[in-house]
Amino acid sequence: MKNYAVKYLAMTLLLVGASIAELFAQEQEVIDLDLVYANRPELKTSAIRRILNKFSWTFTAGYEATMYEAGLQGLEIGLYGNDLVLYGGLAEDQKNHIIYKDWLSNPQSVTVPDAPQSFEGDPGSVQGTAGGPVFNGSLAYHYKKFRVGVGLGYSSQKVKDLKFENSIGVESVNFGQTPSFSLFRYYFLAGYEFFDYGGFHYVVEANLGGASYSGFDSDSFENSGVIEFALPIEREFSEYFRVVLRPAYQIKDASYSNQGSPTISPKLNAFNVTLGINIRIPEIPRCKTYRCNTQVKHRHGDKAYRGQPVFYPQNPKMGQIPKGAHGWKWRTGKPIHAPVKRKP
Ligand SMILES: [Zn+2]
Repeated sequence: MKNYAVKYLAMTLLLVGASIAELFAQEQEVIDLDLVYANRPELKTSAIRRILNKFSWTFTAGYEATMYEAGLQGLEIGLYGNDLVLYGGLAEDQKNHIIYKDWLSNPQSVTVPDAPQSFEGDPGSVQGTAGGPVFNGSLAYHYKKFRVGVGLGYSSQKVKDLKFENSIGVESVNFGQTPSFSLFRYYFLAGYEFFDYGGFHYVVEANLGGASYSGFDSDSFENSGVIEFALPIEREFSEYFRVVLRPAYQIKDASYSNQGSPTISPKLNAFNVTLGINIRIPEIPRCKTYRCNTQVKHRHGDKAYRGQPVFYPQNPKMGQIPKGAHGWKWRTGKPIHAPVKRKP
Protein backbone atom coordinates (compact mmCIF):
# COMPACT_ATOMS: atom_id res chain seq x y z
CA MET A 1 0.00 0.00 0.00
CA LYS A 2 2.75 2.40 0.91
CA ASN A 3 4.43 1.96 -2.42
CA TYR A 4 1.21 2.57 -4.20
CA ALA A 5 0.65 5.87 -2.32
CA VAL A 6 4.14 7.06 -3.16
CA LYS A 7 3.68 6.13 -6.78
CA TYR A 8 0.34 7.97 -6.88
CA LEU A 9 1.85 11.07 -5.27
CA ALA A 10 4.79 10.99 -7.64
CA MET A 11 2.49 10.66 -10.66
CA THR A 12 0.34 13.54 -9.48
CA LEU A 13 3.32 15.80 -8.92
CA LEU A 14 4.68 14.88 -12.30
CA LEU A 15 1.44 15.68 -14.04
CA VAL A 16 0.98 18.97 -12.18
CA GLY A 17 4.59 19.88 -12.89
CA ALA A 18 4.23 19.03 -16.56
CA SER A 19 1.06 21.05 -16.83
CA ILE A 20 2.72 24.05 -15.19
CA ALA A 21 5.77 23.63 -17.39
CA GLU A 22 3.57 23.41 -20.46
CA LEU A 23 1.71 26.52 -19.35
CA PHE A 24 4.95 28.50 -19.17
CA ALA A 25 6.19 26.90 -22.32
CA GLN A 26 3.00 27.92 -24.13
CA GLU A 27 3.48 31.51 -23.07
CA GLN A 28 6.87 31.59 -24.64
CA GLU A 29 5.79 29.86 -27.83
CA VAL A 30 5.02 32.98 -29.94
CA ILE A 31 4.94 32.31 -33.62
CA ASP A 32 7.35 34.53 -35.48
CA LEU A 33 5.35 35.50 -38.58
CA ASP A 34 8.49 36.54 -40.39
CA LEU A 35 9.40 32.85 -40.47
CA VAL A 36 6.03 31.85 -41.86
CA TYR A 37 5.52 34.51 -44.56
CA ALA A 38 8.05 35.68 -47.07
CA ASN A 39 9.34 39.18 -46.36
CA ARG A 40 7.72 41.76 -48.63
CA PRO A 41 10.31 43.84 -50.40
CA GLU A 42 10.51 47.46 -49.27
CA LEU A 43 8.22 49.68 -51.31
CA LYS A 44 10.09 51.84 -53.81
CA THR A 45 8.46 55.08 -54.86
CA SER A 46 9.84 57.88 -57.00
CA ALA A 47 11.00 60.87 -54.94
CA ILE A 48 10.38 63.20 -57.90
CA ARG A 49 6.79 62.02 -58.21
CA ARG A 50 6.26 62.41 -54.46
CA ILE A 51 7.50 66.00 -54.59
CA LEU A 52 5.57 66.86 -57.77
CA ASN A 53 2.45 65.42 -56.21
CA LYS A 54 2.52 68.19 -53.59
CA PHE A 55 1.96 70.73 -56.38
CA SER A 56 -1.10 71.34 -58.47
CA TRP A 57 -1.45 73.07 -61.84
CA THR A 58 -4.47 75.23 -62.57
CA PHE A 59 -5.45 76.48 -66.03
CA THR A 60 -8.58 78.57 -66.51
CA ALA A 61 -10.07 80.75 -69.21
CA GLY A 62 -13.05 83.07 -69.19
CA TYR A 63 -14.32 86.62 -69.47
CA GLU A 64 -13.11 89.76 -67.78
CA ALA A 65 -14.95 93.05 -67.44
CA THR A 66 -12.97 96.14 -66.49
CA MET A 67 -14.58 99.15 -64.88
CA TYR A 68 -12.63 102.06 -66.36
CA GLU A 69 -12.91 105.21 -64.31
CA ALA A 70 -10.77 108.32 -64.67
CA GLY A 71 -11.09 111.57 -62.75
CA LEU A 72 -10.87 114.72 -64.86
CA GLN A 73 -10.35 117.18 -62.04
CA GLY A 74 -8.68 120.41 -62.97
CA LEU A 75 -9.46 119.98 -66.65
CA GLU A 76 -12.15 121.36 -68.86
CA ILE A 77 -13.89 119.18 -71.37
CA GLY A 78 -15.23 120.32 -74.67
CA LEU A 79 -15.88 119.61 -78.29
CA TYR A 80 -13.31 120.52 -80.89
CA GLY A 81 -14.87 119.66 -84.20
CA ASN A 82 -16.33 116.24 -83.54
CA ASP A 83 -13.67 115.30 -81.04
CA LEU A 84 -14.31 115.33 -77.34
CA VAL A 85 -11.16 116.91 -76.01
CA LEU A 86 -9.68 118.01 -72.73
CA TYR A 87 -8.15 121.40 -72.39
CA GLY A 88 -6.36 123.17 -69.66
CA GLY A 89 -5.66 126.75 -70.62
CA LEU A 90 -4.22 129.13 -73.10
CA ALA A 91 -0.87 128.82 -74.72
CA GLU A 92 1.87 131.24 -73.74
CA ASP A 93 1.03 133.59 -76.59
CA GLN A 94 -2.50 133.90 -75.08
CA LYS A 95 -4.09 133.50 -78.50
CA ASN A 96 -3.85 129.84 -79.20
CA HIS A 97 -5.42 127.11 -77.15
CA ILE A 98 -3.90 123.84 -75.98
CA ILE A 99 -6.17 120.85 -76.29
CA TYR A 100 -5.54 117.20 -75.52
CA LYS A 101 -6.77 114.71 -78.06
CA ASP A 102 -7.00 110.91 -77.76
CA TRP A 103 -6.80 111.37 -74.03
CA LEU A 104 -8.33 107.98 -73.15
CA SER A 105 -5.24 106.05 -74.08
CA ASN A 106 -2.82 108.28 -75.92
CA PRO A 107 -3.11 111.90 -74.77
CA GLN A 108 -1.53 114.33 -77.18
CA SER A 109 -1.18 118.00 -76.70
CA VAL A 110 -2.17 120.04 -79.76
CA THR A 111 -2.12 123.81 -80.14
CA VAL A 112 -5.15 125.12 -81.98
CA PRO A 113 -6.34 128.63 -82.84
CA ASP A 114 -9.97 128.29 -81.70
CA ALA A 115 -11.33 127.53 -78.26
CA PRO A 116 -13.18 124.23 -77.92
CA GLN A 117 -16.92 124.40 -77.52
CA SER A 118 -17.23 123.93 -73.79
CA PHE A 119 -19.93 122.18 -71.83
CA GLU A 120 -21.79 123.68 -68.99
CA GLY A 121 -21.01 122.16 -65.66
CA ASP A 122 -18.34 119.85 -64.41
CA PRO A 123 -18.25 116.47 -66.18
CA GLY A 124 -16.91 114.81 -63.05
CA SER A 125 -15.23 111.61 -64.02
CA VAL A 126 -15.43 109.47 -67.11
CA GLN A 127 -16.56 105.90 -66.66
CA GLY A 128 -16.59 102.98 -68.98
CA THR A 129 -16.70 99.26 -69.21
CA ALA A 130 -14.23 97.20 -71.09
CA GLY A 131 -14.43 93.50 -71.71
CA GLY A 132 -12.66 90.59 -73.25
CA PRO A 133 -11.13 87.17 -72.74
CA VAL A 134 -8.87 86.29 -69.82
CA PHE A 135 -6.51 83.36 -69.25
CA ASN A 136 -4.84 82.20 -66.05
CA GLY A 137 -2.28 79.57 -65.23
CA SER A 138 -0.79 78.84 -61.84
CA LEU A 139 1.33 76.38 -59.93
CA ALA A 140 0.63 75.92 -56.23
CA TYR A 141 2.25 73.98 -53.43
CA HIS A 142 -0.28 72.35 -51.13
CA TYR A 143 0.10 71.83 -47.42
CA LYS A 144 -3.02 70.45 -45.76
CA LYS A 145 -5.73 72.95 -46.78
CA PHE A 146 -3.29 75.78 -47.52
CA ARG A 147 -1.73 76.57 -50.85
CA VAL A 148 0.91 79.02 -52.01
CA GLY A 149 2.21 79.48 -55.52
CA VAL A 150 2.93 81.58 -58.54
CA GLY A 151 0.89 82.35 -61.62
CA LEU A 152 0.55 84.18 -64.90
CA GLY A 153 -2.48 85.87 -66.39
CA TYR A 154 -3.39 87.55 -69.64
CA SER A 155 -6.43 89.55 -70.59
CA SER A 156 -7.42 91.54 -73.63
CA GLN A 157 -9.86 94.41 -73.04
CA LYS A 158 -11.84 96.65 -75.33
CA VAL A 159 -13.56 99.71 -73.89
CA LYS A 160 -17.22 99.74 -74.89
CA ASP A 161 -19.54 102.20 -73.17
CA LEU A 162 -18.25 105.49 -71.89
CA LYS A 163 -20.20 108.00 -69.91
CA PHE A 164 -19.64 110.90 -67.60
CA GLU A 165 -20.45 111.03 -63.94
CA ASN A 166 -22.49 114.19 -64.44
CA SER A 167 -24.63 114.69 -67.47
CA ILE A 168 -23.01 117.22 -69.77
CA GLY A 169 -25.39 116.84 -72.67
CA VAL A 170 -23.11 114.71 -74.84
CA GLU A 171 -25.06 112.69 -77.34
CA SER A 172 -22.76 111.53 -80.06
CA VAL A 173 -19.12 112.38 -79.83
CA ASN A 174 -15.81 110.99 -80.91
CA PHE A 175 -13.59 110.10 -77.98
CA GLY A 176 -10.65 109.83 -80.27
CA GLN A 177 -8.61 106.69 -79.88
CA THR A 178 -10.79 104.43 -77.78
CA PRO A 179 -8.58 102.31 -75.58
CA SER A 180 -8.25 98.70 -76.34
CA PHE A 181 -5.61 97.39 -74.01
CA SER A 182 -4.13 94.13 -72.90
CA LEU A 183 -2.71 93.16 -69.57
CA PHE A 184 -0.11 90.57 -68.77
CA ARG A 185 0.29 89.84 -65.08
CA TYR A 186 2.51 87.66 -62.90
CA TYR A 187 1.68 87.00 -59.30
CA PHE A 188 2.13 85.18 -56.04
CA LEU A 189 -0.91 83.42 -54.72
CA ALA A 190 -2.03 82.21 -51.33
CA GLY A 191 -5.19 80.26 -50.69
CA TYR A 192 -7.11 78.24 -48.19
CA GLU A 193 -9.73 75.56 -48.71
CA PHE A 194 -12.32 76.61 -46.15
CA PHE A 195 -15.21 74.24 -46.88
CA ASP A 196 -15.63 70.82 -48.49
CA TYR A 197 -18.95 69.19 -49.21
CA GLY A 198 -20.14 66.54 -51.61
CA GLY A 199 -17.02 66.55 -53.75
CA PHE A 200 -16.95 70.37 -53.91
CA HIS A 201 -14.08 72.34 -52.43
CA TYR A 202 -14.58 76.01 -51.65
CA VAL A 203 -11.43 78.04 -51.69
CA VAL A 204 -10.54 81.62 -50.83
CA GLU A 205 -7.53 82.93 -52.69
CA ALA A 206 -5.55 86.16 -52.97
CA ASN A 207 -3.08 87.11 -55.69
CA LEU A 208 -0.55 89.90 -55.52
CA GLY A 209 1.69 90.80 -58.39
CA GLY A 210 2.96 93.05 -61.11
CA ALA A 211 1.49 93.85 -64.48
CA SER A 212 2.52 94.97 -67.88
CA TYR A 213 0.05 96.78 -70.16
CA SER A 214 -0.04 97.38 -73.83
CA GLY A 215 -2.45 99.71 -75.57
CA PHE A 216 -1.75 102.85 -73.54
CA ASP A 217 0.56 104.88 -75.69
CA SER A 218 2.52 106.96 -73.27
CA ASP A 219 6.01 108.06 -72.36
CA SER A 220 5.29 107.94 -68.64
CA PHE A 221 3.10 104.91 -68.08
CA GLU A 222 2.99 103.53 -64.56
CA ASN A 223 0.73 100.96 -62.97
CA SER A 224 -0.02 99.84 -59.45
CA GLY A 225 0.29 96.13 -60.08
CA VAL A 226 -2.69 93.88 -59.43
CA ILE A 227 -4.38 92.61 -56.30
CA GLU A 228 -6.92 89.90 -57.00
CA PHE A 229 -9.34 88.14 -54.67
CA ALA A 230 -10.91 84.94 -55.88
CA LEU A 231 -13.40 82.38 -54.61
CA PRO A 232 -12.66 79.26 -56.65
CA ILE A 233 -15.09 76.38 -56.41
CA GLU A 234 -13.41 73.12 -57.24
CA ARG A 235 -15.35 69.99 -58.19
CA GLU A 236 -13.26 66.94 -57.39
CA PHE A 237 -13.41 64.17 -59.99
CA SER A 238 -10.46 62.26 -58.64
CA GLU A 239 -7.58 62.69 -56.24
CA TYR A 240 -5.65 64.25 -59.11
CA PHE A 241 -8.24 66.08 -61.15
CA ARG A 242 -10.65 68.92 -60.39
CA VAL A 243 -12.77 71.25 -62.48
CA VAL A 244 -12.55 74.84 -61.28
CA LEU A 245 -15.03 77.71 -61.50
CA ARG A 246 -13.21 80.84 -60.41
CA PRO A 247 -14.96 84.18 -59.88
CA ALA A 248 -12.50 86.95 -59.00
CA TYR A 249 -12.26 90.68 -58.39
CA GLN A 250 -9.20 92.73 -59.31
CA ILE A 251 -8.03 96.01 -57.87
CA LYS A 252 -5.62 97.96 -60.05
CA ASP A 253 -4.92 101.36 -61.51
CA ALA A 254 -2.58 103.14 -63.87
CA SER A 255 -1.42 106.63 -64.70
CA TYR A 256 -0.03 108.05 -67.91
CA SER A 257 0.64 111.16 -69.85
CA ASN A 258 2.16 111.95 -73.18
CA GLN A 259 3.79 114.94 -74.87
CA GLY A 260 3.26 117.30 -71.96
CA SER A 261 -0.40 116.43 -71.50
CA PRO A 262 -1.95 116.18 -68.03
CA THR A 263 -1.71 112.83 -66.31
CA ILE A 264 -4.74 110.58 -66.68
CA SER A 265 -5.05 108.12 -63.79
CA PRO A 266 -7.78 105.59 -64.41
CA LYS A 267 -8.91 102.94 -62.00
CA LEU A 268 -9.04 99.68 -63.88
CA ASN A 269 -10.76 97.41 -61.38
CA ALA A 270 -12.14 94.29 -62.97
CA PHE A 271 -14.37 91.32 -62.38
CA ASN A 272 -13.70 88.04 -64.07
CA VAL A 273 -15.10 84.53 -64.14
CA THR A 274 -13.03 81.68 -65.50
CA LEU A 275 -13.54 77.96 -65.86
CA GLY A 276 -10.80 75.38 -66.06
CA ILE A 277 -8.98 72.47 -64.56
CA ASN A 278 -6.75 71.75 -61.60
CA ILE A 279 -4.45 68.79 -62.01
CA ARG A 280 -1.85 66.98 -59.95
CA ILE A 281 0.87 64.61 -61.01
CA PRO A 282 0.07 61.24 -59.38
CA GLU A 283 2.60 60.07 -56.80
CA ILE A 284 2.60 56.57 -58.34
CA PRO A 285 2.34 55.42 -61.94
CA ARG A 286 -0.61 53.62 -63.46
CA CYS A 287 -0.44 49.82 -63.43
CA LYS A 288 0.61 48.52 -66.81
CA THR A 289 0.14 44.85 -66.08
CA TYR A 290 -2.22 43.71 -68.78
CA ARG A 291 -4.25 41.27 -66.74
CA CYS A 292 -4.40 43.35 -63.60
CA ASN A 293 -7.86 44.80 -63.07
CA THR A 294 -7.22 46.19 -59.61
CA GLN A 295 -8.71 49.64 -59.25
CA VAL A 296 -7.34 50.62 -55.87
CA LYS A 297 -3.73 51.57 -55.29
CA HIS A 298 -1.79 48.34 -55.09
CA ARG A 299 1.65 46.86 -55.46
CA HIS A 300 3.48 44.44 -57.64
CA GLY A 301 6.75 43.43 -56.07
CA ASP A 302 8.47 46.52 -54.72
CA LYS A 303 6.50 49.07 -56.76
CA ALA A 304 3.18 50.75 -56.04
CA TYR A 305 0.65 51.42 -58.76
CA ARG A 306 -2.74 52.99 -59.20
CA GLY A 307 -5.45 51.26 -61.15
CA GLN A 308 -7.24 54.31 -62.52
CA PRO A 309 -6.53 57.05 -65.05
CA VAL A 310 -5.88 60.50 -63.57
CA PHE A 311 -9.47 61.60 -64.26
CA TYR A 312 -11.17 58.69 -62.47
CA PRO A 313 -11.76 58.30 -58.78
CA GLN A 314 -10.21 55.35 -57.03
CA ASN A 315 -12.89 52.69 -56.92
CA PRO A 316 -12.52 50.52 -53.84
CA LYS A 317 -14.69 47.76 -55.27
CA MET A 318 -12.55 46.07 -57.83
CA GLY A 319 -14.51 45.04 -60.86
CA GLN A 320 -17.20 47.65 -60.53
CA ILE A 321 -17.36 49.63 -63.71
CA PRO A 322 -17.95 53.37 -63.42
CA LYS A 323 -20.44 54.83 -65.87
CA GLY A 324 -19.05 55.40 -69.30
CA ALA A 325 -15.78 53.69 -68.57
CA HIS A 326 -16.29 50.85 -71.02
CA GLY A 327 -13.73 50.78 -73.71
CA TRP A 328 -11.69 53.60 -72.21
CA LYS A 329 -8.06 53.30 -73.14
CA TRP A 330 -5.39 55.40 -71.59
CA ARG A 331 -1.70 55.11 -72.05
CA THR A 332 -1.48 51.42 -71.32
CA GLY A 333 -3.66 50.77 -74.31
CA LYS A 334 -5.86 48.47 -72.30
CA PRO A 335 -9.46 49.26 -71.53
CA ILE A 336 -9.90 49.78 -67.84
CA HIS A 337 -11.83 47.07 -66.08
CA ALA A 338 -11.79 44.97 -69.22
CA PRO A 339 -12.45 41.31 -68.56
CA VAL A 340 -9.29 39.26 -68.64
CA LYS A 341 -8.71 37.92 -72.11
CA ARG A 342 -6.49 34.97 -72.50
CA LYS A 343 -3.96 35.42 -75.21
CA PRO A 344 -3.75 32.45 -77.56
ZN1 LIG B 1 -1.75 45.95 -61.02
